[in-house]
Amino acid sequence: MSLEPGRAGEPELTTSLADCPRLENADLFEFACAGCGDCCRNRRDLVLSGLDLYRLARWMHLPPRVVADAFCRREIGQSTCLPVLVLRPSARTGDCPFLEGDGCAVHPARPLACALYPLGQSIDPDTARMEYYAQLPLCGTEAPGRTLTDYLQGAGVTERAGTDASWAVECTRLSDLLRQAGGREHPRFLPAVRRVERALYYDYSTQDEFYPQFRENLETLYHVLQTLLKT
Ligand code: SF4
Ligand code: SF4
Repeated sequence: MSLEPGRAGEPELTTSLADCPRLENADLFEFACAGCGDCCRNRRDLVLSGLDLYRLARWMHLPPRVVADAFCRREIGQSTCLPVLVLRPSARTGDCPFLEGDGCAVHPARPLACALYPLGQSIDPDTARMEYYAQLPLCGTEAPGRTLTDYLQGAGVTERAGTDASWAVECTRLSDLLRQAGGREHPRFLPAVRRVERALYYDYSTQDEFYPQFRENLETLYHVLQTLLKT
């Protein structure tokens, strides 16, 4: 499959990934970012994973919780019952708080959604299989001969894919656990969600690698939840 970049990104025209063409690794994806910054403007929906927050925190030499306090809005997912961190837009411009001019002030530590754009990613929580979709119409300029694999490697997506898949699988498992325990109706729902939030986002030293800490946090978390969610 070959797609033609060159038009301004208009992600609001795309209603869901199911409407977008799916790309295989060897497919041509001849897109290069033109650095216009348009995908960072009016950006109110940028959800962070634990790895996203950890990478930002390491880049800023700050603890993850401090970065979340400074730059994120906390929500609880309506259907998932999971804690969600969303980058809080600048109160002055409505743009991403890290947009400086047309550029990203945290580019080497930018979140997955930014590294992927204008691709979308879906992960099957049962098999951890990842699929990639092109959000049309594409922005940017042309990079002749570039394949999806080239693009993902260049954007740093490939090297974190295993952790991102594991994150999706574990979030699905945690969501099932919280919902099966009664969700918001459970008397200790809020303490449970706050404990999940700690394990997913905050209990990390940026001196150490993310993934081993993630696994260790989850092991402790499942024990704590067993007690907390007992009725
Ligand atoms: S983190 Fe960087 S790339 Fe992502 S929306 Fe903000 S400014 Fe843009
Ligand atoms: S990804 Fe597209 S919209 Fe975003 S900065 Fe690059 S060219 Fe502009």
